[in-house]
Amino acid sequence: MPKTGRALIDWLDEQAAAFSGATTREYYLNYAGLKDDLSLAPIYRRHRALFTRETVDRIVTTRSKDERVPNLREFVVDGYLEQAAKRLTEEIAGRETADTVEWDGEDLPYRSVQQELANEPDAARRRDLDQRRLEVTAAQNGLRERRWELLYGQTRGLGFDSYVDLCDKLGALELQPLREITERFLWETELTYRARLERELRGIGVDPALAERADLLRLFRASQFDDSFPEDRMVPALYATLRGLGVDVDQQPNVILDTEDRPRKSPRAFCAPTRIPDEIYLVISPHGGHDDYRALFHEAGHAQHFAHISGNQPFAFRGLGDNSVTEGFAFVLEHLLYSRAWLRRYLGIKKSAAYLSFVRFHKLYFLRRYAAKLLYELELHSDGEPRAHAKRYADLLTSHVGVRYSAADYLSDLDDGFYCARYLRAWIFEAQLRAVFRRRWGEQWFRNRDAGATLRDLWSMGQRYSAVELLRRLDEPGLDIGPLAEELTAGS
Ligand SMILES: [Zn+2]
Repeated sequence: MPKTGRALIDWLDEQAAAFSGATTREYYLNYAGLKDDLSLAPIYRRHRALFTRETVDRIVTTRSKDERVPNLREFVVDGYLEQAAKRLTEEIAGRETADTVEWDGEDLPYRSVQQELANEPDAARRRDLDQRRLEVTAAQNGLRERRWELLYGQTRGLGFDSYVDLCDKLGALELQPLREITERFLWETELTYRARLERELRGIGVDPALAERADLLRLFRASQFDDSFPEDRMVPALYATLRGLGVDVDQQPNVILDTEDRPRKSPRAFCAPTRIPDEIYLVISPHGGHDDYRALFHEAGHAQHFAHISGNQPFAFRGLGDNSVTEGFAFVLEHLLYSRAWLRRYLGIKKSAAYLSFVRFHKLYFLRRYAAKLLYELELHSDGEPRAHAKRYADLLTSHVGVRYSAADYLSDLDDGFYCARYLRAWIFEAQLRAVFRRRWGEQWFRNRDAGATLRDLWSMGQRYSAVELLRRLDEPGLDIGPLAEELTAGS
């Protein structure tokens, strides 16, 4: 490994590309049902020089002005922390796979309980089942606590004040301004959200005062809309949409659509960019319904973003950087499912008012949930004492989502690295982007060639620029939650 300067940065860029390509391929093969095991250990072994303390110190202390450095620095530190926590991470995953919940005289796999709850029409049975899940979760929490204590220890060892400090500095997440934005959003949408939530809960026979998290899983299943979203029109609707944006999918050999049926294939759509931009897999098991459509369009948004990234850039701009950007582009396509004009044009749906009103309410719920998660994580990750925050999790989620959450979920309902902040930034970015498109090209912007060209131009930059910098290129000020809040509270 080169020690300093340009040579070190070039080496890291090259190694990061090889490592990410190999791990993404391994995940792709496993989740697509093409390979039974997920063998990441040999890849880590091959690239062990990437995540040593020595490498971390070199990249953290480098004074180079090279624009790749921030992205590479975040990548190396993340990998270093992942390595340190690997044994516990695997142990937790093993427990989540092996544990079962006793239900109706059978052993239900722990991870399938969510699905079961969404399909259970009886509220008392839902609560009983969720209570059983919570007991299993609580029994796993010792491992999760140890994992976070270890990560907090490593964080301090690297010279950061706290995990909040580490994520904020390395990921340029601007967590404090984001907190202010989301607190205002929670405040401004409170009344609209509460009124709608109570109405919807009564609609499924649940007393709002007694409502729990499991009742929302049931509420948002909303199978009554599924008939309008048939399986056989999914892929044709996606292709027609992309053609409308000037993307000819038949002339796009770098996006490989995998629709084949395999017994062990993931039921949920995903995108695997194994070589950006030359080899991008979009893997789906189409079964229809509104959820499945949204998932496909979301993943297709990632796939098109990756496929359009200009290949003559370093990997730090193609495959690393601010994930709010790729998530934002994924949401742009997903959000077509929230457009009256698109539903009419591509699915022939003439009466979409009830569906649109419902999915907007769902999105408002999601945003409030993520806003509450952000407030919680800012507290959780501040002092190195995970156990002290279990009750705060329940309080914050309960008060902002409006149904009862349990303290036992305080570490299971959590992603590493403030990914909740990436999503929040992505939703804000996406709504602003669409507001620009609508202003310039109208409600049917998705059929406008210029809109397509603008989108492709933004895609081509990869994640070289942050969401904020991309918005400035479109003459927008910084992140502004206004367009999103307006959209979600209109006509509820
Ligand atoms: Zn995504």
